[in-house]
Amino acid sequence: MLSFHGLRAINLTLHSLFVEALLTGEREAALANQFDTALNNMPHGLCMFRADGRLAVMNHRFSEMMRLRDELVKGSPTAIEIVSACVAIGAISAANGRLILAEIENSLAGEIVTVGDEAVPRSLCWTFQPMADGGAVVLIEDITERRNAEARIVHLARYDELTALPNRVNFRDEIERILETEHGGGKTRLSALLFIDLDQFKQINDTLGHPCGDRLLCSVAERLRDMLRPEDLVARFGGDEFVVFQQNIASNEDAAALARRIVDRLSDRYLIDHHVVEIGASIGIAVTFPGVKADILLKNADMALYRAKADGRGTYCFFREEMAHTVEARRILELDLRKALANEEFELYYQPLVNLKTGKITTCEALLRWNHPVRGTVSPVDIIPVAEEMGLIVDLGRWILRKACMECMLWPEQVSVAINFSSQQFHQRDVLTEVRYALEVSGLPARRLEIEITESSLLRNTQWTHDALQQLHAEGVRISLDDFGTGYSSLSYLHSFPLQKVKIDRSFLEGIDSDRPLTLLRGVARLSTDLGMSVVVEGIETNEQLELISADGTVTEAQGYLFSRPVPAIRIRQLLAASHGRRGAKDGDAIVLPIRSIA
Ligand code: C2E
Ligand code: MG
Ligand code: MG
Repeated sequence: MLSFHGLRAINLTLHSLFVEALLTGEREAALANQFDTALNNMPHGLCMFRADGRLAVMNHRFSEMMRLRDELVKGSPTAIEIVSACVAIGAISAANGRLILAEIENSLAGEIVTVGDEAVPRSLCWTFQPMADGGAVVLIEDITERRNAEARIVHLARYDELTALPNRVNFRDEIERILETEHGGGKTRLSALLFIDLDQFKQINDTLGHPCGDRLLCSVAERLRDMLRPEDLVARFGGDEFVVFQQNIASNEDAAALARRIVDRLSDRYLIDHHVVEIGASIGIAVTFPGVKADILLKNADMALYRAKADGRGTYCFFREEMAHTVEARRILELDLRKALANEEFELYYQPLVNLKTGKITTCEALLRWNHPVRGTVSPVDIIPVAEEMGLIVDLGRWILRKACMECMLWPEQVSVAINFSSQQFHQRDVLTEVRYALEVSGLPARRLEIEITESSLLRNTQWTHDALQQLHAEGVRISLDDFGTGYSSLSYLHSFPLQKVKIDRSFLEGIDSDRPLTLLRGVARLSTDLGMSVVVEGIETNEQLELISADGTVTEAQGYLFSRPVPAIRIRQLLAASHGRRGAKDGDAIVLPIRSIA
């Protein structure tokens, strides 16, 4: 917009040109020409009124913007006549016309903005500057585009561009306002905040691509909008997180009922670009209490959501006070885990797998241990899922892979190392590069590396998994299916993926003395053997269990406390020396291990 100083400068220049042009006869034509050029090359519309209120000068830009007829301009009209003509033509509204006339009449410097409406969709900035001799200069600038751009920036700052729903900042402000006005001052209204997270959205996004993911999010937003009452609020917080504020409910049951409806509705199928897509939703609910602030409500709902997801997803959960303690403990665990990798607090233990025919150790499985100064030794069962969620699993997995490969180089040549891969780590794009690198830096031949994956890894993104396994297999790395019998136990995996080993979970050993589980175990073992895979039974603790599983000769290897618990690297080297003799000894020289406890 033109400043008052700028306007005064224009005003003075024009005024002196104008006065000079009138007074100096001989230079009249030249000056008039200059004056005309200056006036008509201005980006602003300008008109100047004399002290008697009649028009002295108007540039083309002004008459063009106001669509004024030449005859009117030539006839020295008054400000009232000009403004009336502008209103009659529809260039400005009648109300704005009155505002403008009032500004001209009060003879003070000023500026107003007339905002466009449906009839006149144009925003103008009007600047008024009185002249020393009683006249006035009026300047207009079309600021429609600038205002639109500003409005867009404001919109972007407060709304989600994809779904057009309010964003986090907007929603938080609105909730804060509602909590203060509707819930403050001793009022006992009850409202609920529902934090919604889509289940399996990431997989859809990864497999069908981001444009598809975007359309899915828009459909979710639409379904949510359709389900709510006008007084409820819904926002997208980014990613696949949506939030609903359900106002003025009678009891928690109203919030639970809405949560159930949302889970059901969002779980209905979507048709996106000819793909039938199914997702789920988990919801955390926090209800208002006297004096609650928006941030607390959001934090509580988020904690409840965390629990809903841990409870198996596709469900909802109300916030309870004790959740805050769990979350705090988890936060500290995350911080500790980050430090642990840097401080080398992790260690690998190794547990042997014993060949049932020869009694020799064929493979040692690397098992993660965390020696925490205060927590003591922490189980991998507690570490791996947290590391996965934090994204730390990639660095941790890389460390495990290299460390275990290097350790294996110290063992007799016929002994392999088995390394557990978490499903997330396995789905990294560069899993093959990681494995190749670990083999290269350690010097370990690929045939001495075994990668243990679980069924859940196979379940996720099967084509990608299949290709990655195929490539690893082509490199000479062996793949074994861990914990078979705990998940879906689909026999179809056994032939559709390039697996060389099946490890039957120790839960199969429960009640093994009764016929049924044993028949089942033998069935799986026989099938796997027929498909060319070796079979390992995990968790052998007693000689009776060992006798039962080795009776028909289908189980090739066994692992369990009966042979050895997982032990530190230094101890496994001693065990291997006992089992195989000195490093470098030929196969035939190896000491055969009696089938009994060796640790
Ligand atoms: P897993 O791969 O099935 O490993 C076998 C688990 O069973 C180990 O538990 C082992 O100590 C335990 N075990 C072995 N023999 C017996 C027995 O006779 N009786 C009983 N009761 N248990 C036995 P651990 O070391 O606590 O590891 C648990 C799980 O954590 C592993 O199960 C594996 O899924 C995961 N894990 C361990 N280390 C790593 C790792 O480095 N990376 C990844 N991604 N996961 C790991
Ligand atoms: Mg394992
Ligand atoms: Mg296992």
